[in-house]
Amino acid sequence: MRTAEIVSVGTELLLGQITDTHAPTMARILAECGIGCQRRATIGDNFERLVDALKGSLSRADILVTIGGLGPTMDDLTRDAIAAALGDDLIRNEAYESELRGWFADRGYKFAESNAKQADVPSSGRMIPNPNGTAPGLLCEKDGKVVIALPGPKGEFDPMAYGPVREFLEQLGGGVIHSRVLRVIGIGESMVEEMIRPLMDGENPTVAPYAHTGEVHLRVTARAATKAQAEKLIDPVHAAIEAILGNHLYGTDQTNLEESLVRELQKQSKTMAVAESVTGGQLAARITSVAGASQVFKGGVIAYTLEAKQSLLDVSSALLNEHGPVSKEAAIAMAEGVKKSLGSDVAIAITGNAGPTADVGDQPVGLIIIAHVDEMGARVHEHRFRGTREDIQRRATQTALTELRTSLSGPA
Ligand code: ATP
Ligand code: MG
Repeated sequence: MRTAEIVSVGTELLLGQITDTHAPTMARILAECGIGCQRRATIGDNFERLVDALKGSLSRADILVTIGGLGPTMDDLTRDAIAAALGDDLIRNEAYESELRGWFADRGYKFAESNAKQADVPSSGRMIPNPNGTAPGLLCEKDGKVVIALPGPKGEFDPMAYGPVREFLEQLGGGVIHSRVLRVIGIGESMVEEMIRPLMDGENPTVAPYAHTGEVHLRVTARAATKAQAEKLIDPVHAAIEAILGNHLYGTDQTNLEESLVRELQKQSKTMAVAESVTGGQLAARITSVAGASQVFKGGVIAYTLEAKQSLLDVSSALLNEHGPVSKEAAIAMAEGVKKSLGSDVAIAITGNAGPTADVGDQPVGLIIIAHVDEMGARVHEHRFRGTREDIQRRATQTALTELRTSLSGPA
């Protein structure tokens, strides 16, 4: 497999003033062309450090892609640095220089002489036309190495990267690196890793876990001549993981938890409703973000105060007095209340304390109680979450979705 490195150039990237969005784009393109990106670096507008970084990349990788620093100004050093790293001379492309001068003249702009350096090309290279700007890209081939230089502005970078550069890399790479993401809920990252440990030793495909809020993603990546062949290599590993993780595996790739929940309810022709206290509508918002949710989602009640729990969800004042609003009893009564008033098959209720402080007599910060009522009766779980108010609310929502999604597909 051919390898690549990406060097993003610009002090504003290093200072955190702009975010490097092009390097991930480039990395994806490389992967789609079967080229393994093994390192990414960000270097400021400093000639020595840039030459040093480029030489380092050229000593390790087959292909070096630079991003930015191709413009006409003093701090645009990439062209010179590439020539220095390759031991090339810069040769002025006279035709392109007059084209540039003409471009300025046509628009009545004065031609700053610094613009001419955009017509300089390293001796082992050629220009990649830039229909959207004045600085062309560069493609150099020397001693078995390839250097590709792309301009920074998005309107120039994207068309060049997705166009001629991708075309060139496709021929060079001769294959694809393709991934499928398997989404796992209800088990932590280290436990997932322990369970699928034997599957993680393979080289093609490779399997790697990543932790996200309330879920774990397993990325299964295969190298093959075509995407279809890569999928064939991934299928048996996917099946083996499914056999181990059962219904903890709820979806693949872009399918998120709420979408998977809505699809499952559709499949089972069931409707649901929610009653939220501490999450203030987040659960309903996530479910209704899914197109087609109206077929399964009846609605929800945000019952924040005691009065709201009584008047909107028919929770009795006696129950609230005896157990308090953050209790298993209150959570079940909230779920039963919304299930009855909206006539859903399933209902879920969330109550708890998201903090940041607990008043006297309150339940502790981070205590979240989730009740779930369906034709089988009521189930209720207590959780203790840490973090900021937002963290606790987000985890509560995620957990409610997880519990409902898992219960719909039966015991694990
Ligand atoms: P110019 O001809 O405009 O000077 P350039 O090729 O020299 O182009 P830079 O000067 O490095 O590119 O960057 C110009 C602008 O492009 C930046 O201000 C930024 O908005 C954007 N840009 C540069 N690099 C990146 C990157 N890696 N990710 C996202 N945006 C970038
Ligand atoms: Mg610039």
